[in-house]
Amino acid sequence: MIPRIILKRGKEESLLRRHPWIFSGAVDYIEAEQEEQIAEGALVEVCTRSGDFIAQGHYQVGSIAVRVLSFEREPIDQAWWNARISVAYDLRRTLGLVENPSTTCYRLVHGEGDSLPGLVVDIYDTTAVVQCHSVGMYRSRMEIAEAIRTLYGDRIRAIYDKSSQTLPYKAGIGAVDGYLWGTSDHASQVVVENGERFAVNWEKGQKTGFFLDQRENRELVKRYAKGRTVLNTFCYTGGFSVYALSGGAREVCSVDSSERAVALAAENMRLNFGQGASHSEVVADAVEYLRDIGDRYDLIILDPPAFAKHHKVLGNAMQGYKRLNARALSQIRPGGILFTFSCSQAVSKELFRTTVFSAAAIAGRKVRILHQLTQPADHPINIYHPEGEYLKGLVLYVE
Ligand code: SAH
Repeated sequence: MIPRIILKRGKEESLLRRHPWIFSGAVDYIEAEQEEQIAEGALVEVCTRSGDFIAQGHYQVGSIAVRVLSFEREPIDQAWWNARISVAYDLRRTLGLVENPSTTCYRLVHGEGDSLPGLVVDIYDTTAVVQCHSVGMYRSRMEIAEAIRTLYGDRIRAIYDKSSQTLPYKAGIGAVDGYLWGTSDHASQVVVENGERFAVNWEKGQKTGFFLDQRENRELVKRYAKGRTVLNTFCYTGGFSVYALSGGAREVCSVDSSERAVALAAENMRLNFGQGASHSEVVADAVEYLRDIGDRYDLIILDPPAFAKHHKVLGNAMQGYKRLNARALSQIRPGGILFTFSCSQAVSKELFRTTVFSAAAIAGRKVRILHQLTQPADHPINIYHPEGEYLKGLVLYVE
């Protein structure tokens, strides 16, 4: 028998509205034949006090007790994984991302957005990178790999599991990153995104190796870059820098506090434009760097890491966003364009916008919003899980 999580009276409401999480405070008691059946990551059924089935999912220790896999009573077997991942794949095909020679990297599975809470799968040409954020997903990794193989056949040659840093630390399962299937003689691959080339290293890189969520926003930078002097802060692999130069920027400067990141940005510039591109790199704290840039730049990109990892630190995080934006807004050349982002889930669109507005007021500049940006469609938002909307961006025209 599958262990059953019995909810407190009335606590099934959010589930009936198909929210995919059950918080530990909603749990009344757990029914299991043996204690080891309810180890973290176990498949459990969720029921009301009167015993009605509501959902099934992965059990977790912590503030989220269950992440829902299905609202149906159905076996979660290999056929289920194949079907679910194939739905995700069909969406990417609809988006024109499958077998598209001008974009060979995309997100195949985006957690709750694809009704697979706790799972991320990114495709880098012939390699799939699986990243589990829950023990339940980690325990299912071989089924997940099998589903990917079934779908892609020989279009995928390696499946790499990169969960050691994303699993809950307290679960203590000592995961080690490695290949679930196939191998790769090269831990990096050159991928193409909107025709631009990038070397991606999933073994050593941040996240799964590349920030796929800025694909469409990078295109927009390309559109505005012509003749401009561009500053790309928090550049990581230099995604925005490559697009800016490709769009005809006069000069691009990439800044990141990580030496490795700056080296990657330089490598990607060479990959696309050879030696001697109008590109410079600086290893520096971006906020410090922005202290004194004068009026050199007329296109600035601010794409910091999540300043607010959770709500408790929201106050400080907002001060951070304000300072960063005020520095860029006060110095950008008249007629300049600012691309500013926040990827903190805890920061709402409205809060981000208000903060950028106060930064504009501090800078004393006349500012207009040209575009309001978000994550691309291969990072979809489950309508019953609005928390999944994490990336926010504004494109501002500064007089
Ligand atoms: N814009 C990038 C993604 C940025 S990820 C892209 O399009 O791919 C955030 C980057 O910020 C990381 O590379 C990290 O090394 C860098 N970073 C973190 N704190 C920083 C700081 N204080 N100053 C400069 N860079 C920083």
